[in-house]
Amino acid sequence: MRGTMIHGPGDIRFEDRPDPAIISPTDAIVRISVACVCGSDLWPWRGADPITQPIPMGHEYCGIVQEVGSAVKTVKPGQFVIGSFFASDNTCPNCQYGYHSSCQHRELVGGAQAPFLRVPLADGTLVATSDLPSDELLPSLLALSDVMGTGWFAADAANVKPGSTVAVVGDGAVGLLGVLSAKVMGAERIIAMSRHASRQKLAREFGATDIVTERGPEGVARVKELTNNIGADSVLECVGTQEAMEQAIQSTRPGGFVSYVGVPHGVGLNGAQLFFSHVHLHGGPAPVRRYLPDLIDLVLNGRISPGKVFDLVLPLEQVAEGYRAMDERRAIKALLRP
Ligand SMILES: [Zn+2]
Repeated sequence: MRGTMIHGPGDIRFEDRPDPAIISPTDAIVRISVACVCGSDLWPWRGADPITQPIPMGHEYCGIVQEVGSAVKTVKPGQFVIGSFFASDNTCPNCQYGYHSSCQHRELVGGAQAPFLRVPLADGTLVATSDLPSDELLPSLLALSDVMGTGWFAADAANVKPGSTVAVVGDGAVGLLGVLSAKVMGAERIIAMSRHASRQKLAREFGATDIVTERGPEGVARVKELTNNIGADSVLECVGTQEAMEQAIQSTRPGGFVSYVGVPHGVGLNGAQLFFSHVHLHGGPAPVRRYLPDLIDLVLNGRISPGKVFDLVLPLEQVAEGYRAMDERRAIKALLRP
């Protein structure tokens, strides 16, 4: 087959790769229905993560099970499945507490920007739908594999409840789906921090009640102004930079909750500032697997359409253009069709 590899900053190639094969008896091979480019794929693309050897790219996936290993019991060839970027056994203590992305046997799933993918720990990782979904539902089901599951975790970890006032830092796909998650969880007021017209529009569509275009201290001041000068109950940090984290902590009311789901790059916390801010912090790589069954129901029942974040559709072999378009902010998120 041909699959996506990164060779260095800005150097994405769609090239000959060995077909994935069952390595461990708990593996499955999935034929990818649709794939996509993640905001976090842009970190190595921009040179923020070192690349010492070519790396297969893509960790968001859904598709049809092609083949399973001899120890796989529940997942069957022909089923439509969705999985997360961390394979998990769904049985260890961390999985039972709901932290599948800290599974004692977790394995990073990579190479999904390709026609076929090997998924480890198939029984624990993959969730099958009862029927094959229609084509128009594929983008929304794919979004559950990472960005929607991560946005949902961001809202959940920030303790969003009916009636909450919520602020979302970051207007990438995860931030936008954090807005949607907060809306579904019953937030009354949702402040989206965004400077881009197309993203503001989608944020409003997903349930944002206010848009703040300012950043840094000015952004914090605007959130305070909108919240009787106390700050939001829940703030979702969906970027992973120092500026975004500080903005999130300072926009939260004393006693409020900050979640952080952006992969941190150069984030350091000031102990004294944290001490006096009186906020709860909870975040990390989203345990997407925990939420998959419920989120699949919400998509199949037509209650959420997270696939709206895909505003660019490309044939898989044009994957490099997807990276460029997202880097240049011409696209929120690129969908790839094998
Ligand atoms: Zn586990």
